[in-house]
Amino acid sequence: MDLHPITQAIRTQTAQTNEMEHSTPLFLTSSFCFDNAEEMRAAFADETDDNIYSRFSNPNVHEFSERVRVLEGAEAAYGTASGMSAVFASFMALLKSGDHLLSCNAIFGSTHTVITKYLNRYGIEYSYVPAGKPEEWEAAIRPNTKMIYLETPTNPGLDIIDLEFAGKLAAKHNLILNVDNCFATPVGQRPIEWGAHLVVHSATKWMDGQGRVLGGVVAGKKELVHQIYLFCRSTGPAMSPFNAWVISKSLETLHVRMERHAANALHIAKALEHHPQISWLKYPFLPSHPQHKIAVKQMQNGGGIVCFELKGGLESGRKFLNSLELLTLTANLGDSRSIASHPASTTHAKLTEEERLAVNITPGLIRISTGLEYADDILQDILQALDKV
Ligand SMILES: *Cc1c(COP(=O)(O)O)cnc(C)c1O
Repeated sequence: MDLHPITQAIRTQTAQTNEMEHSTPLFLTSSFCFDNAEEMRAAFADETDDNIYSRFSNPNVHEFSERVRVLEGAEAAYGTASGMSAVFASFMALLKSGDHLLSCNAIFGSTHTVITKYLNRYGIEYSYVPAGKPEEWEAAIRPNTKMIYLETPTNPGLDIIDLEFAGKLAAKHNLILNVDNCFATPVGQRPIEWGAHLVVHSATKWMDGQGRVLGGVVAGKKELVHQIYLFCRSTGPAMSPFNAWVISKSLETLHVRMERHAANALHIAKALEHHPQISWLKYPFLPSHPQHKIAVKQMQNGGGIVCFELKGGLESGRKFLNSLELLTLTANLGDSRSIASHPASTTHAKLTEEERLAVNITPGLIRISTGLEYADDILQDILQALDKV
């Protein structure tokens, strides 16, 4: 039978004992046994794919990785301890001293720190190119450029980058295209179909979707994923078998959850778009979004994040957070419970106003991670909080 990737992922069950469990058991073990010296030798010589030690591989991590591989349409995938270990390993395994990384300027905060504060210690150069101006990207490519790195939709500004454009640019210059697909998830967008060679994820977010455990994953070309695997196997950012077991089960409901997250997000985005306290609102599947056409070309739905700017700026942002009764104030996103954040007074408070604007954090920017609660209840809470700012 020719099965859809969603069915294939749900039916991928590689971690099983001889009891033939229907629900995957948890392989909570640091190492694996061999019957004799010859089998052990062969495993260490990579002649078999027997598990040796859970820093290298583990049945639960393998099953989780396989499910993501299927969903992304990738040749290979490898689970890691967190999203940041996936991002960091993808840089360290594939770039070396003297190489140049071309990165979109609107990226996750810790990725920004890795690129600007750590890569240069190892002689890896970088340039930032503006997310909203892809026409400037080609001019920034240097003879030593090795990789293009981007997120789409971007966090927290929700810019959409044309993956088809990025795929063609990478192919023309023979560069690795590495895409952080965390916000869209593989059921919302498949960057490999547009020419990405590598996809990285924080599985902590929508993949777990219930705010329980950390995880990450890289998926893409076999030889690239293998390099990353070898780097991780020796340096140690291994995914916990327990976390892999939790998130692997969560992947069975990812498409159903994402449909509802996106429907709820669209509902609140439509209702708030012209609210008098809001100067602008962005949601990829609203026609008012500046890159709406690209969003509908490459995404199955608009995702679960809505962002808007409060007219009153910084002070209004604080008041808004303090007035919420249902939505949670917390650092995570992609949870069944709706979450509100105000980057200017929290995650980005240490930056100057100018530094914040350089990464598109405006004073009154509010990011809503839309949960699975009843849509009108989420809206009602946001509306009553807006009344108080
Ligand atoms: C959270 C996040 C990360 C980092 O993931 P962790 O699991 O927290 O390490 C990377 N990229 C994006 C877009 C994220 O939202």
